[in-house]
Amino acid sequence: MARNPRFDVLFEPVRIGPVVAPNRFYAVPHASGMTNTLPRMRAGFRATKAEGGWGVVCTGYVSVHPTADDSPLPYATLWDDNDIRSHALMTDAVHAQGSLAGIELWHGGGSVSNKTSRFPPLSPSGISWMATHVGFMGHQRSKAMDAADIRNLLRWQAEAARKARTAGFDIIYVYAGMGYLPYEFLLPEWNRRSDAYGGSIANRVRIVRELLQVTRDAVGDTCAVALRISLEELRGRRSEHAASEAHEVVELLADVPDLWDVKLDSSPTDCAPSRFTPEASHEPVIDFVKRITRKPVVGVGRFTSPDTMVSQIRRGVLDLIGAARPSIADPFLPRKIAEGREQDIRECIGCNICISSWHDGVPVRCTQNPTVAEEWRRGWHPERFNAAGSESSVLVVGGGPAGLECALTLARRGYRVSLAEAADQFGGRLRFETQLPGLATWGRVLDWRLGQLQRLANVTLYAGNQLSVEDILGLEHQRVVIATGARWTRMLYSTLELPVGDLEAPGVYTPDDIARGVQLQGPVVVFDFDNYYMGSALAEHLSRSVDGVTYVTPAGHVSAWAIMSNEQPQVHRALASSGVKVQTLSRVVRMDEGEVVLADLFTGAERRLQCQSLVIVGARLARDDLYQALQARGADFTAAGIISVDRVGDALAPGAIAHAVHSGHRYARELDGASGSELYRRDVPITDEAPLLYDDRLARRTI
Ligand code: ADP
Ligand code: SF4
Repeated sequence: MARNPRFDVLFEPVRIGPVVAPNRFYAVPHASGMTNTLPRMRAGFRATKAEGGWGVVCTGYVSVHPTADDSPLPYATLWDDNDIRSHALMTDAVHAQGSLAGIELWHGGGSVSNKTSRFPPLSPSGISWMATHVGFMGHQRSKAMDAADIRNLLRWQAEAARKARTAGFDIIYVYAGMGYLPYEFLLPEWNRRSDAYGGSIANRVRIVRELLQVTRDAVGDTCAVALRISLEELRGRRSEHAASEAHEVVELLADVPDLWDVKLDSSPTDCAPSRFTPEASHEPVIDFVKRITRKPVVGVGRFTSPDTMVSQIRRGVLDLIGAARPSIADPFLPRKIAEGREQDIRECIGCNICISSWHDGVPVRCTQNPTVAEEWRRGWHPERFNAAGSESSVLVVGGGPAGLECALTLARRGYRVSLAEAADQFGGRLRFETQLPGLATWGRVLDWRLGQLQRLANVTLYAGNQLSVEDILGLEHQRVVIATGARWTRMLYSTLELPVGDLEAPGVYTPDDIARGVQLQGPVVVFDFDNYYMGSALAEHLSRSVDGVTYVTPAGHVSAWAIMSNEQPQVHRALASSGVKVQTLSRVVRMDEGEVVLADLFTGAERRLQCQSLVIVGARLARDDLYQALQARGADFTAAGIISVDRVGDALAPGAIAHAVHSGHRYARELDGASGSELYRRDVPITDEAPLLYDDRLARRTI
């Protein structure tokens, strides 16, 4: 199909200093969890974006020196020749697709603890970032930088820039965002210096200017020099000379970088979850930059709609459409627009499972894109599929995320597929969960898959079909995949975190009961030790129809795990504004005549709350009765011509939606031994001793 001319503007080339981006699609720097220890996986991940049409593809944050050591978070390094080789895998792979490669050089300043390198962290005035997330906390405070430290910082940046050029990068960043070192210089609360680097804004901006200058001196004849800067806090500050301190900073540096990459200041606002924040949320902070500089501006905002992208360009907000999450969820987003297939875009749902992977220190995972980080190690391409390994037809039972993904991938491989769903509509858990406050966007998991399935001739969809063992034996399929999901239980746990059995009492419910439409009597207690979204979203949901909702958790926070997905701060705010009372560090012990008995997690002291309805949001168990019943009829299913019966998704092992999608996808990719093994290729760091190559062109590279 031809491209819609309305979107032509997105495919215009953009000059960035000495280089030219082939189009306006810009995959911005974002952590992928794949550091220099997984260089081939990382190269495969980034190369796939380039293949999918992103004109510029950037690395995540790359430390310029061991004084910037973010461990245990997964950060990349550019300290030595092996690091150069490691990054060159990516630049070669990106260039092979005709795209530019960008590198975000980074110094973490007083926001890192140098847990591995053991160097004192550096900061403008010895003031360190105080993390509220245990994973980020440390006990090492920073050293106030002296003049020699400043000279060193400039030297490290210049050396890293030269290494980056050797590694083949086209765009080289100075990173003054997110609480990292150059950003710390910008804010007087961090920067109390009385020398030329502190005091007035012109002085506070000096280090950024000098970093840009040394980068340009080092490589600016061949590489573009980009500035990435966080403007949220500065935009809220009054300035004597400009509309805000953000305006003043941009005015002072207006044409110094070749490219402005503008963003917000903290991960939960910059990479905001869709549960609370819509597309294009950065605009009110960064909309002014283009009016001040003549250089191109890139910014993000979870853009998935080409019309929104065009609007950003036409209204003069951005020159380049930046994306981290949309480029993870669909690396082929630009190409789909180019080919007039925008309805095929697999839109990011804004769940932030991807960012949780970085917080977990593991390769990026994505709810929408199960192939992410699997490109090299499992050989999974997001758009190309290994051909079916047999003539088998496959029956998938259960049309939730796992069944939908499994059926779609099988069909794309060429199998004949039937997908049966008991309910009148597909979607599984999404049918209810997308009705909860803020979760409508997650419906894209269903909508995209169903839309794709409906267009395939080798798929038959049966909604409203609850299949029994007899039904399955009667249908003529060689392969059966059970994707019947999971159920919530009434199971409780002891203080020692040991399971203590189900709480059987009147007025005790699970989320499944609410999903079935059971009306609760108030007051309601939601007891959450699942710790993700369900408990808090249900509490918020119930507060709209019932008087008196209390959220109780043994954790220290509401939705404790949601710190990983950047949702937690806003979850707390949402419950507060819904009038939901919160009781942390408490366990439910029993129900007792219109009251629930809680025990303090540490002292065991008991406390009673009025409660007519208790909703336990805790353990989930596989809903695998159908699978077990089929197993019990092994001889019959062989006689019926069935070669295999397997489980995927929550019916196999309950998890988040991302786990179910990956599980369904893996079954489909591996059916008939297509992958040959359950294992995957293991990546290893590049070292002088063992230069194992991603691509043999690297062997010819001289450093
Ligand atoms: P997952 O996350 O693993 O995809 P879900 O719970 O979201 O699991 O979806 C499971 C789906 O399976 C539900 O929509 C449920 O209605 C459906 N299902 C369960 N049992 C049967 C059955 N016997 N026949 C057809 N569909 C079933
Ligand atoms: Fe988007 Fe969620 Fe995938 Fe992240 S994990 S890219 S937020 S769909």
